[in-house]
Amino acid sequence: MRTQLFIDGRWTDPVNKGQLDVINPATEQVIHVIPKGTAEDIELAVSAARRAFDKDGWPNTTGAQRGAYLRRIAELIRERSEMLARLEVLDNGKPLPEARWDIGDAAGCFEYYAGLAEQLDDTSVVDIAISDDRFRTRVRREAVGVVGGIIPWNYPLLMASWKVAPALAAGCTIVLKPAENTSLTALELGAIVQEAELPAGVLNIVTGLGAEAGQALVSHPQVDKLAFTGSGRIGSQIMAEAAKDIKRISLELGGKSPLIVFDDADIEGAVEWIMFGIFWNQGQVCSATSRVLVQDGVYDKLLTRLIEEAKKITLGDGLKEGVLLGPLVSKQQLDQVIAAVARAQEDGAQLVAGGHRPGEFSQGYFFQPTILTEVPLDSHAWKEEIFGPVVCVRRFTTESEALTLANDSRFGLAAAVMTQDNVRADRVSAALRAGIVWINCSQPTFTEAPWGGYKQSGIGRELGKWGLENYLETKQVTTYISRDPWGWYIK
Ligand code: NAD
Repeated sequence: MRTQLFIDGRWTDPVNKGQLDVINPATEQVIHVIPKGTAEDIELAVSAARRAFDKDGWPNTTGAQRGAYLRRIAELIRERSEMLARLEVLDNGKPLPEARWDIGDAAGCFEYYAGLAEQLDDTSVVDIAISDDRFRTRVRREAVGVVGGIIPWNYPLLMASWKVAPALAAGCTIVLKPAENTSLTALELGAIVQEAELPAGVLNIVTGLGAEAGQALVSHPQVDKLAFTGSGRIGSQIMAEAAKDIKRISLELGGKSPLIVFDDADIEGAVEWIMFGIFWNQGQVCSATSRVLVQDGVYDKLLTRLIEEAKKITLGDGLKEGVLLGPLVSKQQLDQVIAAVARAQEDGAQLVAGGHRPGEFSQGYFFQPTILTEVPLDSHAWKEEIFGPVVCVRRFTTESEALTLANDSRFGLAAAVMTQDNVRADRVSAALRAGIVWINCSQPTFTEAPWGGYKQSGIGRELGKWGLENYLETKQVTTYISRDPWGWYIK
């Protein structure tokens, strides 16, 4: 496990020598310390990224050259995947099979953007048709510059990959600020890019607190673009700060995603997808299936089956075989979830499963899989992200009622529809105000497909070719190609 920051291709102690404890959420024990970077370290990291961009020529490498680095990074992630997955469990708490899945996806993300980097060699300069044949106009796609990437704790290495891989593919350099409670695998990424011989300063990793290192990165005048995933509150602050010097921004800020089950749905399938949607990663997922809307005819049956299955889930240390639900990431997150469930009940919701810290553990931030019904529409539990294994289930009668309920949210990240009627599935998916709609499934995520939200769920899209667009500027280059003098001002 690393104990230093990765700046300008070297491991270095933070200027102020500060440290942060790393706590295993399953045992509440301090297992390591990481450097507590501050504004001084961000200054060094941004200078290195600036030099790598402005002077050392990273943006002038070919897409094929950048693709080769990205492929090598992916290869090294795969070689170390078991070690990285285990670090993720120690740091975040998630069950080991989920962590292995994340690490595989992280490697896949680097491979995918390697392919897009290679394609840029043929597509980054194109002639376009214009209305005056005395001129020729070309459009060039160029790297945005120095990126500040700020990521959350729910998918540590994967979220790092979603920012770093497309940024490097585009020719940007980046300073990455991982979440303070899950920085271990991000630091390992430093060791990986070092082994891949990525030029110094292209990727810099500064761990530390959001209010210190994060804030310094956001307000740094030499950063051209901010890419952020996390809470709406901080996203809004970042947007305001970025406005001061018109930094480019992309934001991914979570949601309160509905899943609609119609009478004709495959109920067992729906139960399976709801379980995956809300209990995977302990419900700490921006697109989590946190509001389930069920049509009258199948409401009782679905709720009964959901309660039965939720009660069967095995909780425990993520490193233990057979565990499906690990601890929440931190004491702060656990306290937040406990408070949200208590408040829901005060507001009139019925607790029909879970709702407590399980009695069998004397330590660890565990919380039972929890189901709430009769949740008032104006309550905190219905409207706000709880970010834990807590689902609100509600009945509806008509399709239009379901749509009104589903869309009545300030968020619009994801939504899901369960029905065997394809016409209805198309109609409902078109009417849902969300950036991602799943039909007869929930949560599958593909590196090739756009990811991001409507409304207060964010700005911009990650993944796919849209993810690369985040890191590209568009330049018009127009040449006067006529042999005739222009003859407008000079006669
Ligand atoms: P957060 O938004 O506070 O933190 C996310 C990242 O932003 C971290 O790296 C953090 O250090 C950094 N940060 C915090 N304050 C900053 C600042 N002033 N300037 C720059 N960077 C700053 O999220 P959190 O405290 O980790 O979690 C709080 C809530 O956010 C959760 O309960 C959940 O609702 C939501 N969340 C959403 C996602 C998502 O994927 N959309 C992920 C994690 C958390």
